[in-house]
Amino acid sequence: MPAGDTPDTGVLETDVCVVGGGPAGLALALGLVRRGVRTTVLERSTGGQRELRGESLSPDSVRLLDRFGVLERLRADALTVHRLEVADAGRPVLSIDFARFPYAYRHPMEIPQPRLLAELTTAAAREPGFRLLPGRTATGLWREAGRVVGVRAAGPGGPLRVRAALTAVAEGRFGRLREEAGLPATVRPLRRDVLWLRLPRPAAWTEPAYRIRIHRDRHALVLPDANGSTVRVGFSLPKRGLRALRAAGITTLHERLRELVPELADRPEALPGDWSQTALLDIFTADVPVWHAPGAVLLGDAAHTLSPVLGQGVNHALGDAAVLAPLVAGALGDSRPGRARAVDAATAAYQRGRARAVADSHRLQCRQERVFTWSSRPAAAARRTVYRALQTSPRLRARVLEPAYFAAQRGERADRAHEEERT
Ligand SMILES: Cc1cc2nc3c(=O)[nH]c(=O)nc-3n(C[C@H](O)[C@H](O)[C@H](O)COP(=O)(O)OP(=O)(O)OC[C@H]3O[C@@H](n4cnc5c(N)ncnc54)[C@H](O)[C@@H]3O)c2cc1C
Repeated sequence: MPAGDTPDTGVLETDVCVVGGGPAGLALALGLVRRGVRTTVLERSTGGQRELRGESLSPDSVRLLDRFGVLERLRADALTVHRLEVADAGRPVLSIDFARFPYAYRHPMEIPQPRLLAELTTAAAREPGFRLLPGRTATGLWREAGRVVGVRAAGPGGPLRVRAALTAVAEGRFGRLREEAGLPATVRPLRRDVLWLRLPRPAAWTEPAYRIRIHRDRHALVLPDANGSTVRVGFSLPKRGLRALRAAGITTLHERLRELVPELADRPEALPGDWSQTALLDIFTADVPVWHAPGAVLLGDAAHTLSPVLGQGVNHALGDAAVLAPLVAGALGDSRPGRARAVDAATAAYQRGRARAVADSHRLQCRQERVFTWSSRPAAAARRTVYRALQTSPRLRARVLEPAYFAAQRGERADRAHEEERT
């Protein structure tokens, strides 16, 4: 059935039922249908609107998109990022040119998430066996004899059940099915929230760059938009600090922006006139010790919600899909009696294959989060020293920055070197 069609109400049979048509769910669906696995994706939204969501893709993600065969078609709508710059107390302390890293895919890209999702959907819809059901919300798991055998769903045309050999839960950071699958998460709020807004790109910023501005324990991330004419600003606030900021008035936000990123305040008429032009991201991490249950598996933010530092969320959503799809396709090729066991072994192998990369990112983010909160004068001076050391020492840069942007390519290179040593 082509993407978008709604089936009759009743029971629908498929090999894999994916709950959530975000980056994780759609990349998994693409990987599965390419391998001949019938896959149905339930997505509760219909419009594909995803303002101010994961648009920064790390070089490792760019490499995955190439492997998925969708990169070339996305290029026209993407922006290649050349540089990472950090200024602390108004002075530049770090400026890294991504071209200097020794990997095949060196540059991050900005790709609007609706565009990314549309391309994954188009590629999947070219294969037989793909079905996308927009406007359908999975309301609960369908179980038989202790095993998840699909989901119950609501949406246009009334209730529906989807029966599947595997239910892949890619519901994102607020999903509920993971608890129902008996896979609880430990949720940890971080010490700050982030207020996002979109502003015109200052004319002087001709080179696409990630710009981090720090002053004491305040900081802002400024990310270029793919359209080239605007930037996204992530403005850090103390946890639940928005209420106080709102009470102080929108001009206080303007002042803080001016203090951290004076270039953005050049055009006062472009600054937000009210709070509706901002979006608050409540930052928390969710750690789920086990990502699989009989007949069900978690991926993307549902399995591991990370903080937004260093834009790792989409990276790991795509990475999960890339590892899970071939394992599941292999298991579903098994003869029927052993199929359920093979599927469960595949989902366990998937977690073993992915857990380390996710844990490494999490550790890296926590370290960076701590550095951002250093506020006393000596601590801020120490932070500047760390950034300057990163600027001058290639070895330190490789140790600190490469895990954030090139973990997968680094891992592959290490495996190749190990292999060559053995032969
Ligand atoms: C403001 C913001 C900025 C971010 N910036 C970046 C960035 O620059 N780079 C980066 O890498 N990451 C970023 N992230 C994180 C990134 O967006 C997520 O990590 C990524 O989208 C996770 O993908 P996912 O597919 O797991 O989940 P999601 O993208 O959350 O997708 C889940 C999907 O499931 C659907 N859904 C949920 N429940 C149901 C249900 N019961 N039935 C049917 N459908 C359901 C939802 O509608 C949604 O479409 C950002 C996040 C936010 C909030």
